[in-house]
Amino acid sequence: MIDFKAPEEITSVIESLERFVEVEIKPLEKKFAKALEDERYLYDENGKYTPEFQEALKQVRLKSAEAGFFTMFGEAELGGNGDEFGPLAVALIHEALTKKYGYNLLISEIFPPGLFSGGLTPVLLGMKPEVREEVLPKIKTGESLLCFGLSEPDAGSDVWSIKTKAVKDGDHWVINGTKQWITNAPYAEYAIIFAITDPELAEKRRGGITAFLVPFDGKTCTCSSTIPYLGHLGSRIGIVSIEDARVHEKYIIGDLHDGFGAALHGVDIGRVVMAANCVGTAQWALDRAIEYAKQRKTFGVTIDNHQAIQMMIAECGMDIYAGRNMLLHCAWKMENQKELPIKEISMIKAFTTEMAFRVLDRCMQIMGGMGLTNEMKIEKVWRWARSMRVPDGTAEIQRRTIARRLLKGDTDFS
Ligand SMILES: Cc1cc2nc3c(=O)[nH]c(=O)nc-3n(C[C@H](O)[C@H](O)[C@H](O)COP(=O)(O)OP(=O)(O)OC[C@H]3O[C@@H](n4cnc5c(N)ncnc54)[C@H](O)[C@@H]3O)c2cc1C
Repeated sequence: MIDFKAPEEITSVIESLERFVEVEIKPLEKKFAKALEDERYLYDENGKYTPEFQEALKQVRLKSAEAGFFTMFGEAELGGNGDEFGPLAVALIHEALTKKYGYNLLISEIFPPGLFSGGLTPVLLGMKPEVREEVLPKIKTGESLLCFGLSEPDAGSDVWSIKTKAVKDGDHWVINGTKQWITNAPYAEYAIIFAITDPELAEKRRGGITAFLVPFDGKTCTCSSTIPYLGHLGSRIGIVSIEDARVHEKYIIGDLHDGFGAALHGVDIGRVVMAANCVGTAQWALDRAIEYAKQRKTFGVTIDNHQAIQMMIAECGMDIYAGRNMLLHCAWKMENQKELPIKEISMIKAFTTEMAFRVLDRCMQIMGGMGLTNEMKIEKVWRWARSMRVPDGTAEIQRRTIARRLLKGDTDFS
């Protein structure tokens, strides 16, 4: 029998997380209310979070780690509880939090920012034991952040066209290049940097790219600037400049010339997290839009009486229902099937990110002019939903993967 309800062990984790939010995060929300309302107080002149807000985020991570949430989806081999909490738990827990609280900067810090590249990421499994020992304690407790440096000014979707190079010098590698769009770069202690180590192999797209763990030392590896986008005054995304960074060969992640093998491990669960956040946030927005429609009056009646508004509400409902069921089915497949459901993971990434944007956009429309202001809190989340259609493989790249799988004969939808 198929049971679509969340099992008790997951609902009890969700309840504990809600208590954590009330006890640990709500007071921080009050303290930083001005900064959360107005970005002029959230970012400094360089577009970085103010030191006080950075400290608040760190406190959330440290407390979350103490409570066991920060590592709950992490690899068991690294000390996490990933064995207990698989893709379905990841989906249901992220959905529940965003459904209740919407997209929220402080709450999202309960889990490692950039799940597949932060916290107890499977990428750590590819590190040499002595390197793991060096970084693991700081990563596990939320004390330090990692960032994932693959994209460059001339290489986004087409990852094989990166230009960053590493040249061997004794038992070290000397790395030069620029990474762009790197989440957490302004705040991270280490970067996972992809560089060409064998130009011939890389040219043929058969390997020749290696992943290195590189510390931000303030000289040879720095975050040279943040990248504000969609009208924000700052961000957690940055440009990483690497100039003659000398890195010992023990800092290679996985195998030499096979950077994509070890370091892209875990990208799939990151897509489940993103999809679940989109599904939860869409529900949060619809709840608010319905509440608004029942109160706002035009032409003598509340606007929920107008068929045009009802159509938008119905379309949001259909979108959410489709996205949620795709997500849960895909997570179920990941948990119960031997083979990774590649096309389904691409489908949930593309569908739910686009769906969340459609839903948020309709909810804003239902709220009229008020939807465009920060007062309803919808506009901020609408910007967040818009941005999700680009990272971790754009919606077009996901369609490319889906089409390739279908054309190869993977037409099973059960
Ligand atoms: C919020 C955010 C966070 C990010 N975080 C990180 C991070 O932590 N680490 C990191 O390495 N990168 C990160 N990125 C970069 C992200 O991975 C790239 O932006 C993404 O891969 C797209 O690359 P691009 O922006 O260069 O667009 P391009 O690759 O130049 O694509 C431009 C357009 O062409 C389309 N396109 C490209 N190729 C094809 C094709 N074959 N078929 C059809 N359409 C195609 C794309 O879909 C897009 O619409 C982040 C980006 C954003 C916006």
